[in-house]
Amino acid sequence: MNREIPYKIYLEENEMPKQWYNVRADMKNKPAPILNPATMKPITVEELSPIFCTELAKQELDDTTPYFDIPQEILDFYRMYRPAPLVRAYCLEKKLGTPAHIYYKFEGNNTSGSHKLNSAIAQAYYAKKQGLKGVTTETGAGQWGTALSMACSYFDLDCQVYMVKVSYEQKPFRREVMRTYGANVTPSPSMLTEVGRKINAEFPGTTGSLGCAISEAVEAATAQEGYRYVLGSVLSQVLIHQTVIGLETKIALDKYGIKADTIIGCAGGGYNLGGLISPFAGEVLRGEANYDIIAVEPASCPSLTRGRYAYDFCDTGKICPLAKMYTLGSGFIPSANHAGGLRYHGMSSIVSQLYDDGILTARSVEQTEVFKAAQTFARIEGILPAPESSHAIKVAIDEALKCKETGEEKNIVFGLTGTGYFDMVAYQKFNDGDMKDYIPTDEELEKSFATLPKISL
Ligand SMILES: *Cc1c(COP(=O)(O)O)cnc(C)c1O
Repeated sequence: MNREIPYKIYLEENEMPKQWYNVRADMKNKPAPILNPATMKPITVEELSPIFCTELAKQELDDTTPYFDIPQEILDFYRMYRPAPLVRAYCLEKKLGTPAHIYYKFEGNNTSGSHKLNSAIAQAYYAKKQGLKGVTTETGAGQWGTALSMACSYFDLDCQVYMVKVSYEQKPFRREVMRTYGANVTPSPSMLTEVGRKINAEFPGTTGSLGCAISEAVEAATAQEGYRYVLGSVLSQVLIHQTVIGLETKIALDKYGIKADTIIGCAGGGYNLGGLISPFAGEVLRGEANYDIIAVEPASCPSLTRGRYAYDFCDTGKICPLAKMYTLGSGFIPSANHAGGLRYHGMSSIVSQLYDDGILTARSVEQTEVFKAAQTFARIEGILPAPESSHAIKVAIDEALKCKETGEEKNIVFGLTGTGYFDMVAYQKFNDGDMKDYIPTDEELEKSFATLPKISL
């Protein structure tokens, strides 16, 4: 196949994936089961159902079915903003003077500005199908809340978002996007829930935390009839929905006979990365191909490169299921880092197991060099990238420069998860030369590891 490769590889509607892929089916070493925090025993669909939608609870615990059909209603919604283009970064290649071929999968082409919509729409669909009235969730900086608001308005579901108070006050723009889509946005801790009132009484004037917002969202879901709680990370179902990224990427590459050598993604909770790499990791697991797969995380929150592989709570409130994962400890508070979406203490249990089995490697990078890469990319490729996505850009550039030295014509593919229009305070810090790098000390990490729960199954 010698067709010239266009700047953007799109798929025809009839080429788009119609199923999500569950990489666990091809894993010999399955991720360890998630545990019920009340019993510390593997959780069942019945136990998950009062909090989560039943269909999603089933996907969560299924590690043998390789493919799940994407329901027609979700395919229809995907068609509004998918396929996401796979872009050949010709301009960046030229600028770097590298013989490498660089491709990026751009997930920022929807109003929520990131890949999170891929799972939000699936979770809203199953909630609607189950006849629910609405869903509750938490959001930090607001990316997940924005995606969920869009999904809920499409299916006419009520959406209640508990937003960490400090972000609610300091980041009004995403808040207003959510409200425009009809969501009810409440600063957390609020006076609407028992746990919120308790925290407000105990710590007057507190600006909140993600753990507290999760606790409020879960309480609100269980206290109202016809409501369930939904999550933008932590769960394997989220990773399954995100495989639409990797499946489209693979189809687009195959269409032009391109074999990826290196696949790079940024890793917060590991869901976009897991979604991008799943079809490729599946080939590796089945012995069909080899890829150099790299997860990139911030040096300030290095769960893969410096974390422990252990059971841990997924939230500071300790009410969500426990998962075995690479973690820094649920009480770990990363220092100020401008990639809000990468500040999670743990890593998806699927990505963690793949990493432990050597299917992928990990690197950590510091934020000033990440913003330098973001600037280079913005100036030459025209897209203002999200700080999270720019972690992948940084390593893609590093790899392309290595090829310049060796003369190798590698095919480098990376995930560009979103745009950075709501991150201008971070860009301002960088442009003013005020951005600092923070790396936790070993002592700080040890302190956090000491709080890991002791689990014996
Ligand atoms: C949330 C977010 C991430 C982190 O995603 P994970 O799938 O949890 O690793 C990365 N990029 C952007 C733009 C995000 O909004």
